[in-house]
Amino acid sequence: MTADKNPWLKLPWHATQWQRIAAMQAGGRLPHALLLRGPEGVGKYRFACRLLAAVLCERHDSLDPPCGDCRGCRLVAAGTHPDLQELAPLESKQQIGIDQVRSLIQRIGLTAQYGGRKAVVVVPAERMTRAAANTLLKTLEEPQGDALFVLVAHRAGALPATIRSRCQIVNFPVPDTDVAKAWLAAELASEEGAETALRLAHGAPLNARVLAADGRLAAREAIVADLERLIRGDGDPIAIAGGWRDTGLLDALYWLLSMVCDLIRLKNGRLAHSLTHLDQGPAMQRLARGLDLLGLFRLFDLLIEARRAALGQLNLNEQLMLESIAIEWQRSSA
Ligand SMILES: [Zn+2]
Repeated sequence: MTADKNPWLKLPWHATQWQRIAAMQAGGRLPHALLLRGPEGVGKYRFACRLLAAVLCERHDSLDPPCGDCRGCRLVAAGTHPDLQELAPLESKQQIGIDQVRSLIQRIGLTAQYGGRKAVVVVPAERMTRAAANTLLKTLEEPQGDALFVLVAHRAGALPATIRSRCQIVNFPVPDTDVAKAWLAAELASEEGAETALRLAHGAPLNARVLAADGRLAAREAIVADLERLIRGDGDPIAIAGGWRDTGLLDALYWLLSMVCDLIRLKNGRLAHSLTHLDQGPAMQRLARGLDLLGLFRLFDLLIEARRAALGQLNLNEQLMLESIAIEWQRSSA
């Protein structure tokens, strides 16, 4: 269910949320549906896994911590507990469909195989189609047995209000920078790397850890160098687009978009220390001087559209898409 090294380890910025859940449980007030709400990369899913492991733990009665060692805990960690269901978009699909919800409801209608509770995690809940959400709503309105539903949402506002109103909401804001930085520095064994990665991930520590891995930060630096070559006129847009494609389409679009946002901020007089790509400050200043604002807005629109197409996986010609971005970049040079 989770690829984390030790899913039973509490994330240091989740203390308040754990206290709240533990108090609900101690008072017999743990609701049958929880909505974990907050930006992506702050550990909501990991919180859900640990909570559901605790619910299915066969040794500990209290919610915190799960023992980590019994049959229930081990099956949750392996992603194979028969009384735990995960509802997520199927591979190659963007959304959670009504058929998936129907089949889930059928399964949770059966008796728990190990005689305990049943548990369901929906992630990300906002990816349910309207019909899927309506079907789930009926179950949330008339809960069956003592199933516990945990909905994880990165954009809870996109969920129907009827679903939100059926759940107890637990907020997961972006953690305090010092707490997040200390945790990440230990994970990456680098304080400087932690600072850069955390800023690039807008403070979301788990996303920052992913960004720091696999040479993705180096790929970002290569993109900055490509952009400088394009505005100087000594870069070939076709070859550069090929390099971006090797980086990975979504990664390349992510970096390009966040750089365009930084450049628009610089053009609008924002100070360099507020930039996402702060460590690339001098290069960002050179790029801002070399581009006009109107061109940057055109690039912003083009990148938003490209990302939408990439997420929708509509018969993409990735090379052509990236070439048009590189050419537009060259064209926008002041
Ligand atoms: Zn256990």
